[in-house]
Amino acid sequence: MKTDIKKIDKQYIASTYKRFPVVAVSGKGSVITGEDGKKYIDMGSGIGVTAFGIADEAWLKAVCGQASLIQHASNLYYTEPCAKLARTLCRRTGMKKVFFSNSGAEANECAIKAARKYASVKYGPERHVIATLNNSFHGRTLTTLAATGQAKFHELFTPLTEGFVSFDAGDMSIPKELNARGALAAVMIECVQGEGGVIPLGDGFVKELYAFCKANDVLLIVDEVQTGNGRTGELYAYMNYGITPDVVSTAKGLAGGLPLGATLLGEKCADVFAYGDHGSTFGGNPVSCAAALSVIRRIDKKTLAGVKAKSRFVFETLNSAEGVESVTGAGLMIGIKTVRPASDVVNECIERGVLCLTAKDKVRLLPALNIPMKTLEKALDVIKEVCARK
Ligand SMILES: *Cc1c(COP(=O)(O)O)cnc(C)c1O
Repeated sequence: MKTDIKKIDKQYIASTYKRFPVVAVSGKGSVITGEDGKKYIDMGSGIGVTAFGIADEAWLKAVCGQASLIQHASNLYYTEPCAKLARTLCRRTGMKKVFFSNSGAEANECAIKAARKYASVKYGPERHVIATLNNSFHGRTLTTLAATGQAKFHELFTPLTEGFVSFDAGDMSIPKELNARGALAAVMIECVQGEGGVIPLGDGFVKELYAFCKANDVLLIVDEVQTGNGRTGELYAYMNYGITPDVVSTAKGLAGGLPLGATLLGEKCADVFAYGDHGSTFGGNPVSCAAALSVIRRIDKKTLAGVKAKSRFVFETLNSAEGVESVTGAGLMIGIKTVRPASDVVNECIERGVLCLTAKDKVRLLPALNIPMKTLEKALDVIKEVCARK
């Protein structure tokens, strides 16, 4: 008898995930094969993780090559992929130092610790508030939940970590007031709010916030967990705004499908951490770092131009489509406000062999950066048809 994966999963896995009825067995590029042999076009890339698709040749070579040398050494020792990846990230961003972890939430935890220590050492412990945006998402640990400006995630898990205040994008009154009473250590933003509904921040607001932070020695932390690593058509989304953050956190697509978080520290807090201030057993794992090195090296001008071109194509195709109210986002991070409920659209797309995501009340697309044009066209045809249905 065939093993009933769904049944075992339902019995033994904590019920935190409402899974779609697909058992992912294998894949290649932007196509995933289910246990019944059915093929799906992957328009979600594991929530923006498999940056160059499934079982990509160059990625496999990097991963298998490093795994056969040494798969883990701990942070008590040096490894080549870890050092080289940090150097590459710094050279490509102008940031000065990197702390590696395993996830987006951990990358943000490190950013928060860096900001707290920077402000505490320089101005005293009263200056510890981190201001974040309403409708933001920064992770699921108790501290990153506190940073997440959406009350629905907080319920039943209080008390959360103290020292977070949220404000509306475009309204500087709260950060200004916090700064005036010497309480504001940092402001943390996503340039495109992902889980919040794929909403890009306005250029004017980001520039104003940047100038305010700079003038007041308030650290600007940009959460690039979802927007980073080529997703928006630049290596990091802040580059679309012409700003220089003090701290950048990233994860998701960084290692193309293996767990890796990175916190990039700029000039101001490059040396904020001393021995013992922070650490991670798995962080900077050499296999993950080797994977990330291959991913980041491939996110060159050509890849980014491809992301931009495909983005224009998606926007043009969907903007004029029946049953589509609006399309938002940047690069290959796209939110579609549909006339029909987003969950109905996603479920019917799955039946028709296309895997999409949702973000709040929208259908969300995060395809691999290198999704072939033909595959993208096929997926959009299905999405358009499903959106147009009455
Ligand atoms: C996904 C996400 C996180 C959390 O990342 P995990 O790897 O799930 O901990 C944090 N911030 C943003 C913007 C994200 O999209």
